[in-house]
Amino acid sequence: IEIKPGGVQEIPEVTYEDIGGMKDVIQKVRELVELPLRHPEIFERLGIEPPKGVLLYGPPGTGKTLLAKAVANESGAYFISINGPEIVSKYVGESEAKLREIFEEAQKNAPAIIFIDEIDAIAPKRDEAVGEVERRLVAQLLTLMDGLKSRGKVIVIAATNRPNALDPALRRPGRFDREIEVPVPNEEARYEILKVHTRRVPLGKRVVEKVDGKTVEKYVPLTKEEKEQLLRKLAAMTHGFVGADLAALVKEAAMNAIRRVIPDILALKEEKLPKELLEKLMVTEEDFK
Ligand code: ATP
Repeated sequence: IEIKPGGVQEIPEVTYEDIGGMKDVIQKVRELVELPLRHPEIFERLGIEPPKGVLLYGPPGTGKTLLAKAVANESGAYFISINGPEIVSKYVGESEAKLREIFEEAQKNAPAIIFIDEIDAIAPKRDEAVGEVERRLVAQLLTLMDGLKSRGKVIVIAATNRPNALDPALRRPGRFDREIEVPVPNEEARYEILKVHTRRVPLGKRVVEKVDGKTVEKYVPLTKEEKEQLLRKLAAMTHGFVGADLAALVKEAAMNAIRRVIPDILALKEEKLPKELLEKLMVTEEDFK
């Protein structure tokens, strides 16, 4: 995969299955983005314009980028991502040209999604103290969007934490005229997100047994029910956590599990990890503390 400066392009591997607790949001994205990308003829038949721009708004870490990548992947669309602050600062004097380049590239590779993260950095309200660069960038973005003649084949998805800080011109018809809220997850959604992030994590518990008068400890995998119980408990305890926080929580727990076997590993003489040691590596409830 070729990575060009600025527009980081990639073939996202994210699917809808990797997103937890956002069924309604995914449904809306599928209608607004996947449908026109895959079947522009539907809109043509009805004589209406498919959406060109969709604004995702919600706090940081709630999965906006994940969602944009998933819809690109699931629609078989080319994906170009740009970051608001970066395009302002990195391409001094060339920001507008860079933006034009990205739109051209998308049109050439349609169906395509252009993802603009932190769009508020390039398109703040004009009455806010805005620099000349930002003013010209907004104008350029509006021109490019108005000029999109691709009939649903190129869709711009923008993300922001501050929808009300955006230049209202951006939200007029034919531009980012569809908005989807990506909220902080509730308990049920947190459970779903934890399920996604522990999909490949061996969850277990420590049991201590007496064998021939000696105490031995071992780790056994959780049953399906125990697993659900643990994830429900964690979901209940993590009020206010967003998806990014929950992903970090699982990673931290896995690190704690690793720390448990570090002494054993360092004491090893042989190169290869013995199977028993690897099998001991399980993430337990205590590791989430
Ligand atoms: P920002 O506004 O800070 O860019 P964002 O809303 O774009 O945040 P992402 O970058 O998509 O958030 O999320 C960061 C990470 O958090 C993801 O890579 C993923 O691991 C995890 N994550 C966030 N939301 C979810 C979710 N709903 N399901 C599963 N994982 C999630």
